[in-house]
Amino acid sequence: MAEAALFDTFARAPLRFERGEGVWLVTETGERYLDFGAGVAVTSCGHANPHLVEALKAQADKVWHLSNLYEIPEQERLAQRLVEATFADKVFFTNSGAEALECAIKTARRYHYSKGHPDKFHIITFEGAFHGRTIATIAAGGQEKYLEGFGPKAPGFDQVPFADIEALKAAITENTGALLIEPIQGEGGIRTASKEFLQQLRNLCDEHGMLLIFDEVQTGVGRTGKFFAHEWSGVTPDIMAVAKGIGGGFPFGACLATAEAASGMKPGVHGTTYGGNPLAMAVGNAVLDIVLEDAFLQNVRDVALVFRQGLAGIQDRFPEVIEEIRGEGLMLGIKARVPAAELTVAMREEYLLGVPAGDNVIRILPPLVVTAEEAREGLARIERAAEKLQSEKLKKSA
Ligand SMILES: *Cc1c(COP(=O)(O)O)cnc(C)c1O
Repeated sequence: MAEAALFDTFARAPLRFERGEGVWLVTETGERYLDFGAGVAVTSCGHANPHLVEALKAQADKVWHLSNLYEIPEQERLAQRLVEATFADKVFFTNSGAEALECAIKTARRYHYSKGHPDKFHIITFEGAFHGRTIATIAAGGQEKYLEGFGPKAPGFDQVPFADIEALKAAITENTGALLIEPIQGEGGIRTASKEFLQQLRNLCDEHGMLLIFDEVQTGVGRTGKFFAHEWSGVTPDIMAVAKGIGGGFPFGACLATAEAASGMKPGVHGTTYGGNPLAMAVGNAVLDIVLEDAFLQNVRDVALVFRQGLAGIQDRFPEVIEEIRGEGLMLGIKARVPAAELTVAMREEYLLGVPAGDNVIRILPPLVVTAEEAREGLARIERAAEKLQSEKLKKSA
């Protein structure tokens, strides 16, 4: 197969999708799958959303790429809209989530450098974190499976157990410049940092002159029912990394910061060739047209309730298969009592796609335009998958 010509880095399911429509993906042979993975929380507005398609096509007819040697009006407009809708004063556009994190890390280090504290470059992160696959972001994530074999771990990243305030306090030194956390860990298995914990992080940062960085690459752009997940807590960061949902499938990301936190980022100290190019910006503005509409986030919250209640019911009926339901909004996790891979396959046999995560969890991350009816259809499929696994398990133990 032609697949042999690719790096062997992915264990791919034998599925070939030809097109998408809203929450559905259609294979080359015409089978229809309910896509509750959304390309890992990316296709926020659904597949082939007409408004996004129109924006991309219209821009494609004008100009694709310019480089940041020139002014790009759509880039300025998107930055302005993000600034108006968030804590931030400044935005830097990137091609991916990892690069948004790279920018966040560099912004924090450069801030302290510009204040005369070049040694304050250490950043504390949390066990189970995922911040990307670059040399710096695997060090930030701190997971051995991603670090192994890639040479010395990039210096300046210290890690403490998730949500352990005492361990965190003990790890802070005069060289700690920032704390970096996902408000809800995605890859790590949908683990939510409590409002109290985020508030404690904010207080520690203010006390020690550290910057608070939120990685909202997966949680952001409506995923939890607020524009950004940290809004549920009332705690605001100094710097935030965004990607995935903001492009709706067009690959781009952004690093947002307060004017103070970004004050070390002077002309020439950072850059990008593709970041913020006209195609990406046209799509990003189209995504915001949809996500910032009044009814949009309300729909996410309403449908999330349908999912929560439905999943809780399935857990009650199939406790041998499902241990726990986790998450916020449409960022949900099913912690399985069987190997999560088995439940993923059983769901796939019911033509429903989810995304595996750490801690034996399957993520349910539907496009944010999912309706209550589509949610119920998906729940019925998850129920059938759980039923099948539970009866198999009971047969085996009988
Ligand atoms: C996906 C993800 C990243 C990395 O994004 P890429 O676009 O794959 O580089 C970083 N942080 C979090 C929380 C993510 O979910």
